[in-house]
Amino acid sequence: MNKQKKVKAVTLVSGGLDSLLSSVIVKNLGIEVHGILCSTGLSSENSDKICQIGTSCGLNLEILDVSKGYVDLILHPEFGYGTAINPCIDCHIHFLRAAKNLMEKRGYDFVVTGEVLGQRPMSQHLQALHIVENESGLSGRLLRPLSAKLLPPTVAECEGLIDRNKLFDIQGRSRKRQIEMAKELDIYKHLQPAGGCFLTDKNYGRKFRDFLEHSNHNICKKDLLLLKIGRHFRLSESIKLIVGRNESENTSLTKYKRGNTMLAAVDCPGPVGILSGIDLTQNIELAASIILRYADTEETESTDVELLIDSKSSIITTKPISNDKLEDLRI
Ligand code: SF4
Repeated sequence: MNKQKKVKAVTLVSGGLDSLLSSVIVKNLGIEVHGILCSTGLSSENSDKICQIGTSCGLNLEILDVSKGYVDLILHPEFGYGTAINPCIDCHIHFLRAAKNLMEKRGYDFVVTGEVLGQRPMSQHLQALHIVENESGLSGRLLRPLSAKLLPPTVAECEGLIDRNKLFDIQGRSRKRQIEMAKELDIYKHLQPAGGCFLTDKNYGRKFRDFLEHSNHNICKKDLLLLKIGRHFRLSESIKLIVGRNESENTSLTKYKRGNTMLAAVDCPGPVGILSGIDLTQNIELAASIILRYADTEETESTDVELLIDSKSSIITTKPISNDKLEDLRI
């Protein structure tokens, strides 16, 4: 008996409603679906959670390392940034190139994404969808099930690998139809609010731009990760202080103490600070006064702050900085 070849697709999953829904829709149409979660190395915190959600929705997800070239992509996006420093079009192209490689290597028939026409102002208008498809090298092989009927038929639809009539014509920012569909497919209960991409955060964008300005546009992965942690203060052209906002950030900051100065109040609860830059001496007292602003001490009271430079400890005594002065330094 001539066995019919199983149709296989690789689906790009982000953990959000649209990508999970698209994957389940395609799977329910009899396609063998292989889900991938792209890991840039900059936001891996959620990967395990997303894989668990995928499993609950009946999808096996593989984490695909796409970190190579990603920092450079953030620094020099060909298609520019969104409202913060989110290079969404370049980012989609980067992820889809990785999906295309996997498709070709493993013999999948096409790639699926949860993109919805007109949902995101930067990356999901019609022209952006075409750019992403062409630049990723996936022309005709990229299926967006939620908006498929509003887009030219893909090779998979033309060849009858998937029934275009069973796909959708969703467009715009509302998620109403997707939520109804997810409820009907019994996957809605598994979804959890996504943390969002840090590159779309305007505060992060501000810290990123400040860093570039003061570092001769030299930035590496470690710097990008550090920009996600704590309150940031610019004390001078070359000196910056980061102050932890909670226990977990204090712990993270201590990992960056090598080569920097670490500060913490003595004898009273308070945050950890990391002071970095050139010729720190003139700003040590200022940094200590900021640390005390967030410590459990009186505004008028002089308090000791410990400085740790490469395991050499010293003490400086000062008072907390005033709110007005603090705000002038905040990045
Ligand atoms: S929101 Fe973030 S992860 Fe998503 S495409 Fe934009 S830059 Fe990439």
